[in-house]
Amino acid sequence: MSKILILHTGGTIGMTRTPDGYKPDGAYFRNAVFHMDSLKSHAMPEWDFMETDPLLDSSRMTVAEWNMIGKIIAENYEKYDGFVILHGTDTMAYTASALSFMLKNLNKPVILTGSQIPLCETRSDGRDNLITSMIIAGEGKVREVCIYFGGLLLRGNRSTKYSADGMQAFQSPNYPVLANAGISIQYNESAFLKQSMGRFECKPFAEVPIGVIKVFPGFRFELFESIMTDRLKGVVVETFGSGNIPDDKGVLLPMLTKAKEKGIVFIICSQCPQATVDMSTYEAGSAFRKAGAVSGSDMTTEAAVAKLYYLFNVYDDAERIKFSMEQNIRGELTPKEDL
Ligand code: ASP
Repeated sequence: MSKILILHTGGTIGMTRTPDGYKPDGAYFRNAVFHMDSLKSHAMPEWDFMETDPLLDSSRMTVAEWNMIGKIIAENYEKYDGFVILHGTDTMAYTASALSFMLKNLNKPVILTGSQIPLCETRSDGRDNLITSMIIAGEGKVREVCIYFGGLLLRGNRSTKYSADGMQAFQSPNYPVLANAGISIQYNESAFLKQSMGRFECKPFAEVPIGVIKVFPGFRFELFESIMTDRLKGVVVETFGSGNIPDDKGVLLPMLTKAKEKGIVFIICSQCPQATVDMSTYEAGSAFRKAGAVSGSDMTTEAAVAKLYYLFNVYDDAERIKFSMEQNIRGELTPKEDL
């Protein structure tokens, strides 16, 4: 019989109504979980329950909370066969991406889940999300950081929140689903991450100053020059389509050359959820390429942000970080030869 740890960090699943709106309610949720008959069934793994203090709406999560979750998993790694992290949906894809990098040589399931409707409400989707995540974590077939939500098991660092009101809140636009949970759980084993044999390690992140810029028609690059100080370490740029940008009126190259001297790393992602960045396809994408920006390939913005934090923690040389940014580290991007 396998044993898993359920870690409650906050989010809608454990919230109750207050005059100001839904808010995490640890006592309510703990009590509800401990009284859920299905969780005592023989079909379920054994489980322990923990919660973070404070419980948070995930829109308030920071690098410190990612580190705390990573640390709790690391401290309990030997004791459990799998982990279910209950988390708000708003930043679940960021936390899942962060944990995928932070937990090196992970060889156990870490399943993030939550709900769109709180468990205290009659139509809550939290019950199935919790039960199925526990089964997946207990079965131990998939041994990577995943999101389970609304019947789909997705690779964490390939996921993005797609819907604020549908029960299938997450999608993995550039990678196949890892499992479909219908009457039975159908795993797509060929899509699982290949296991590395090394020793498990948790590598917490430093709070490196990182930015995300989304371009739009009429975007004026020169207005951003003032924020490109040497305090800023990395910028993820969400461009159009396969990596195109509005006319930069020739300001980009000198601006990025200065930024490069300050060691700032630019990663080019796409505003299209389903896309692979290729800055050489159109002339309109060439300015960033000429200025030495790095292609985010088919990475989500969430994965690119988490990967920047991770790489700035591991290396201090900007060129090394740029090189590694284009490599597939935890299944977060499709290697060039497979595109
Ligand atoms: N605001 C909530 C959160 O992210 C939304 C949710 O859980 O669905 O914590």
